[in-house]
Amino acid sequence: MREVRIRDTLSGELRTLDPRAEVGIYACGPTVYSRIHIGNARPFVVFSLLARFLRSEGYEAKLVVNVTDINDKIYDAARAAGEPSAPFAEKMTSAYLGDTGRLGLGRPDAEPLATETIDAIVALIADLVESGHAYESGGDVYFRVRSFDGYGKLSNRRTEDMDQGEEAGSASLKEDPLDFALWKAHKEGEDTSWESPWGPGRPGWHIECSAMAEAELGPAFAIHGGGSDLVFPHHENEIAQSEGAGRPFARVWMHNGMIETDTEKMSKSEGNIFQLSEALDRYGREAVVDYLISGHYRQPLAFGPEQMEQAVARVGRLRNFFREHPVEGEPGEAPSEHSPARGSGEAAAGESGEAPSERSPARGPREASWEQQRGRSSETSPDPRVTQRSEAFRDALADDFNTPRAMAEVFELVTEANRGDVPGAPKAVRWMLSILGLDSVAEAEGGAGEEAERLLAERQEARAAQDYERADQIRDRLAELGWEVRDAADGARLVPRG
Ligand SMILES: [Zn+2]
Repeated sequence: MREVRIRDTLSGELRTLDPRAEVGIYACGPTVYSRIHIGNARPFVVFSLLARFLRSEGYEAKLVVNVTDINDKIYDAARAAGEPSAPFAEKMTSAYLGDTGRLGLGRPDAEPLATETIDAIVALIADLVESGHAYESGGDVYFRVRSFDGYGKLSNRRTEDMDQGEEAGSASLKEDPLDFALWKAHKEGEDTSWESPWGPGRPGWHIECSAMAEAELGPAFAIHGGGSDLVFPHHENEIAQSEGAGRPFARVWMHNGMIETDTEKMSKSEGNIFQLSEALDRYGREAVVDYLISGHYRQPLAFGPEQMEQAVARVGRLRNFFREHPVEGEPGEAPSEHSPARGSGEAAAGESGEAPSERSPARGPREASWEQQRGRSSETSPDPRVTQRSEAFRDALADDFNTPRAMAEVFELVTEANRGDVPGAPKAVRWMLSILGLDSVAEAEGGAGEEAERLLAERQEARAAQDYERADQIRDRLAELGWEVRDAADGARLVPRG
C-alpha cells in the first residue's frame, strides 16, 4: 500500500497516514446563511478528492462534512429576508446540497447537521462543566481557556492576540475575556432554542464541530480539515473542548488556503461568478473542479475570469485528446462486473501491483483501478511511459496531496500521446482523471435531442426576460435529462452531465 503523507498544521511536519486504520476525515462545512461561494467549494472538493484518492490506494476512508445550521449569521440573514430562521436554514442547506451536488463528486459519507446533534453537544458541554473546564454564567456556558494547558498550540498565537470575536454583551458574563461560549442562553428575537441543564438556548459554533466529529468518527480520528481561516479561533477551540474532555481528537490538522479574489476589480456580472452556482453555469463543472485543484491545497489561490478561462482551456485540451483518442467502454460501468478475477495472473501482472482490488459497494463506479480498467481490454500492454506517468501521478497525490503536480503528469502523458502512438495512454489518462473527478471529459458529446434543445431555447428566453427562477427550473429539468447548460460569451450549449 502506498505511503500517504499529509502536512500537519499543528506540528508543521509531514505525517504518514496509518494504512491499517480507517482514515476518518472531518472537514468543517459551511454555515448556511446564503448561497455558497467558490471559497466554500474548495475544501469540499479537496477533501472529497482526497477521500477518493485514498480509496483508490486501498485505504478505508470516511469523509464527514458538517453543516452549521445554527448560527448568529443565520438569525441575521433570516431576519433580513423576513423569514423564520429554521425554514430559512433548511432552504439554504438544500441549496448547498444542490450546488455542491453539481460538482459531480458525490456526497461525503456523512453530513451531520448541528440541529440534529444537540444531545451529543449538550452531553459534551456537561462533561466540560463537570471537569472544571467550563462554567455556567447567566444561562450561558463558557470554556475556561486558562484551564487547558495546550491552548494556542495550533495557531501559535500570543494570548494578547487572541480575540474570540464574540458579541460585546457576553463580556460581563465571562471570568476572563479569553473564554469562549459553549452554550448561549436564548435571547429576545431568536426564534429557535433547545432545552439544556442551563436553561433554553443554543450551542456555540465551536462545540458543534467537536461533538459532530466525535459522533461520526469516534474520539480519535486521522484528519481534521478546513480552511486556514478556521485555525483560530474555531479549530483552536475545538482542540481545547475535545482534548479538555479527555478525547484524543484529530491526529493531523490539514488546512486549505483561501481563494483570493478582487471583487472590486470584477464587473458586476463577473462578481456573480464568485457564487458557486454561477461559476458552474458559466464554466461547467469540469472547469470549476480543475480550477480548484490547479494550485496546491495549502496555498492561496487567485480567482477571477482569467483563471476560469485558463481552466476551461485545460478542460478543452483534455476533451480534444479524447476526441482524437476515444476510450472504449462506459466509464460509468460498475467495476465489479468487469474486474479481472482476483488473484489471476492478469491482475497480478499490473506494474503498480498494489492498487486495491477490494471495492466497497458505496464507491463510485468511476473509480475502477488502473489494473481493473486495463484488465477489461485485450489491448497490447501499456507503453513504459504510461506506467511511469501513472506512478508519478499517484506519488504526487501521496506526497501531501499535490494535485498540480499530479495534473502535470496527466498533461505530460497527453502531450506524449498526441506526439505519437503511446499504447494504453488514453485509458491511463481517463483513470487518472477519474481519481480527480474529471473523467467525464472522455465522454463523447452527442446531439442533445429535440426536447433538450427546446428547453435550452426556452431557458434563453427566460434569462433574456430576467426570469431567473424559471431559467433555474429549466436548468434543473435539463439536469434530470442528463444535460448540463454551459453559458459562454457566444451563447449557451448543452454538454452531457459528468
Ligand atoms: Zn468546524
